[in-house]
Amino acid sequence: MARAKVNQDINLDEYQDIWVIGEQREGKLHPVTLELIGEGRKLADEAGKKLYVAVPGYDIDEEIAKLLHYHVDGIFYLKHPLLKHFSTEGYAKAISDAILQQKPEIVLVGATSIGRDVGPRIAARIGTGLTADCTRLEIDKEDGKLLMTRPAFGGNLMATIICPRNRPQMSTVRPGVMEKAKSSPEAYGKILELTPELEASDIRVELLEIMKEKKKAVNLTEAEIIVSGGRGVKSPEGFGLIRALAEKLGGEVGSSRAAVDAGWIDASHQVGQTGTTVRPGLYIACGISGAIQHLAGMEESKYIVAINKDAAAPIFKVCDFGIVGDLNEVIPAMIEAIDTKEEVVI
Ligand SMILES: Cc1cc2nc3c(=O)[nH]c(=O)nc-3n(C[C@H](O)[C@H](O)[C@H](O)COP(=O)(O)OP(=O)(O)OC[C@H]3O[C@@H](n4cnc5c(N)ncnc54)[C@H](O)[C@@H]3O)c2cc1C
Repeated sequence: MARAKVNQDINLDEYQDIWVIGEQREGKLHPVTLELIGEGRKLADEAGKKLYVAVPGYDIDEEIAKLLHYHVDGIFYLKHPLLKHFSTEGYAKAISDAILQQKPEIVLVGATSIGRDVGPRIAARIGTGLTADCTRLEIDKEDGKLLMTRPAFGGNLMATIICPRNRPQMSTVRPGVMEKAKSSPEAYGKILELTPELEASDIRVELLEIMKEKKKAVNLTEAEIIVSGGRGVKSPEGFGLIRALAEKLGGEVGSSRAAVDAGWIDASHQVGQTGTTVRPGLYIACGISGAIQHLAGMEESKYIVAINKDAAAPIFKVCDFGIVGDLNEVIPAMIEAIDTKEEVVI
């Protein structure tokens, strides 16, 4: 959380509207934009405010126009050739200037690598606070302030934070936490182009080349099925079984932090408070106890299946289907059942 000084001269009443900072990479909108629009719409309706999306970029007119189908009141297109690709300084300046000019009351940013980089810089430039990694946002019915809730003290309690004296009230939300806005055939609102005052000298970093990471990207936030392994998997080789089941089901491989810390699997697979937040249709937790920090990242999954040899493991309190047993026996039996398409008795 960035700590801002109290801004004595601020007139809180001048700040209206709710903004979502839209994120695009190589001209394609990041899914977190739709998630924030979904949440922003809910807040705007509760507070009787308008919802706008502000998107920095260039040559993305068609992609921007798609957003009109997500029930926003308008889109601020921060259009400039120097914003075609992300740069910390370019984005921070363009977005901060637009906020200072338009004075939104609430600004929501995705807690992606870009949002985490640029969000606190914007807050510092404007002189307001920022609550990072919120898991719940609400409007206080008494005074209309934004109540920003996030895990604190290692996830052992939830803290609700307010920003009473500075504006806008800013918050980052991780991808996968909020539900995506639904598209409608009708287009709402309008596109308002703002041309940021940017010079090449405002950006001290020169982009020479964009290199895609060679290893296969793990796309946990988009996965419909995730098979996750924990300390109960016992070794890097043990993850072969997790991978086999994930492959069979056409899903991705997830993991607990214990398995990452043990060096059995790359951190990009980690689900939970300090990993990725997921909400797939099916989450299969294998050899995972169900610590609160793990649950924080997967409890919104539609169906949760738990395989654990300890019948008292907390994961059984949140799962829809629980199998008490050794994963080394249960998973091969599941794979066999899928292959033969027969029911299996374990
Ligand atoms: C600030 C903070 C942030 C954290 N962030 C995260 C996070 O993002 N994600 C996360 O996962 N954790 C996170 N943790 C760690 C978390 O508290 C737990 O330590 C961790 O989730 C435990 O992982 P686990 O369930 O794999 O291991 P354990 O808790 O050790 O559980 C292993 C389970 O495997 C079962 N088991 C053993 N052998 C078998 C077998 N053969 N077959 C079936 N079951 C078996 C056991 O009965 C046990 O229930 C965080 C902790 C802190 C303090």
